[in-house]
Amino acid sequence: MEIESMVANSVLVRAREGGGSKGRSWKWKEMLRFPHISQCKELANTIERDYYSLCVQQPIGKKLFQLFCRSRHDLQNYISFQDALESFETKSDAERRVVGTNIIQRFLLSQSLQSLPVVQSHVQSCIQALEMDPSADVFCACKKDLHSYLSGQPFMQYQKSMFFDRFIQWKMIERQPVTKQCFRQYRLLGKGGFGEVWACQVRSSGMMYACKKLNKTHVKKRRGEAMALNEKEILEAVDSRFVVNLAYTYETKNALCMVLTMMSGGDLRFHIYNIGSPGLERERVCFYAAEVCCGLNHLHQMSIIYRDLKPENILLDDKGHIRISDLGLAVRLSNGKLAHGRVGTTGYMAPEVIRHEHYGASADWWGLGCLIYEMTAGRPPLRTRGEHPKSDEMERRIRYEKEEYTKVFSNEAKDLCTSLLIKDPKKRLGSQGASEVKAHPFFKNINFRMLDIGLVEPPFKTDPRQVYCSDVQDIEEFSSVKGVVLDETDGELYFKFCTGRVPRMWQNEMIETGCFMELNTFGPMGTRSPDLEY
Ligand code: ADP
Ligand code: MG
Ligand code: MG
Repeated sequence: MEIESMVANSVLVRAREGGGSKGRSWKWKEMLRFPHISQCKELANTIERDYYSLCVQQPIGKKLFQLFCRSRHDLQNYISFQDALESFETKSDAERRVVGTNIIQRFLLSQSLQSLPVVQSHVQSCIQALEMDPSADVFCACKKDLHSYLSGQPFMQYQKSMFFDRFIQWKMIERQPVTKQCFRQYRLLGKGGFGEVWACQVRSSGMMYACKKLNKTHVKKRRGEAMALNEKEILEAVDSRFVVNLAYTYETKNALCMVLTMMSGGDLRFHIYNIGSPGLERERVCFYAAEVCCGLNHLHQMSIIYRDLKPENILLDDKGHIRISDLGLAVRLSNGKLAHGRVGTTGYMAPEVIRHEHYGASADWWGLGCLIYEMTAGRPPLRTRGEHPKSDEMERRIRYEKEEYTKVFSNEAKDLCTSLLIKDPKKRLGSQGASEVKAHPFFKNINFRMLDIGLVEPPFKTDPRQVYCSDVQDIEEFSSVKGVVLDETDGELYFKFCTGRVPRMWQNEMIETGCFMELNTFGPMGTRSPDLEY
């Protein structure tokens, strides 16, 4: 490895280790200073007063609403109940009986100290549901009634409290302009069609991210405007632990930037070919396939077809979990419609996509078949190792030839791949939904409920001191295209694209890095702090 690469890697590793509070700029408190409440009037008057968005969905909003409820004797138990329900969700099936019974005794029985009248009517049905199947959504009806109660009087009172004023102050910071000065930049991680991906760190919080920069001249020359905006809007809408999250968008003179979840474990292509033999151990194949399956399910539930499944688009994080990335080709279908268009990467496109037909989620289940095949065999289906046939030859094979299986495939793996690589989309596994795929014997050791909430331990952990990507000098840098002139019409796209912070992600960043805890203080004995005094 060359010295330049070694230096770039060690700087990145050091930043990662200091990630969180240690990576903050010495001016971090100044960057995140609350504006005085008197300067927040306009936002307070215009913000949508929607309980679900303000008190459930937005992480800082939820925290402040809970702090408000905890400050009130008559509301404390509701929040304790909410906490108990959340902790119930994270318990294994075995523990759920005990924990669930505990919750019922603490909150649902009329004689108990913390009894909550608004949910008491569900006591019998909860006892029964827990008895029958502890992995079911036992307290579903309670949750609904809890929120419908809190969204009434308590929500009204919250909006008159200092906790809500503080929320507005956080929202003011959230809306400050985002520029490249908000980030430190580290090494180049990868290159794609329109530009580069760099490791970066937020100066105010120390959080590490990956910044995907789309070169403006390249986007214009190759008519990528709709594609860039599409990727941004889909990423912003999706909230899944199996899909890369978008935290910020901003622009520089030359680029449109998307700041994404940092996936420091590299892509699966790198693991299959540069670390694997090639190929991956069975346990890893099964785990990654199951997580991809959950990710596809989340996308399909929002009527999004991904269309670009292949190893280099599946990324690993530092704990060993995967996320689907690169949603440039994803498409959101409006009610009941199907997708069309020959879109994807040669060698991974489903037969119906190649045939110019209309298609739905089936195209992604084909992709999962290709992925499982490639992770297992160390080469994609219908190709020998290192072979790169021309695209029409590859398309002929996909339409007419049957893939072969060697001894590395277990019976289950072979059966699953065969079912996912059925040429007729109507007969393909997955055509009846993700549950059909999850139920395949290949996944018999996977608990999908636990996997879906991130509680299954990955079989392989990445080494925090290693950088899982090619050396910097082996990734070509991007140059601008000459002769492309940017004008006002381009400005319209940039305006739509660059919307700054994505609230859910930025608020999580504030909480995870501890900035929220350190800054969100009030006066002594529950009084207002000076920035909140009218
Ligand atoms: P393109 O749409 O141009 O193909 P990608 O989104 O696939 O661009 O990014 C190109 C490469 O950059 C990926 O193959 C991967 O190696 C790296 N990369 C992309 N996103 C991330 C991320 N969130 N974390 C770490 N590396 C990433
Ligand atoms: Mg890509
Ligand atoms: Mg792309």
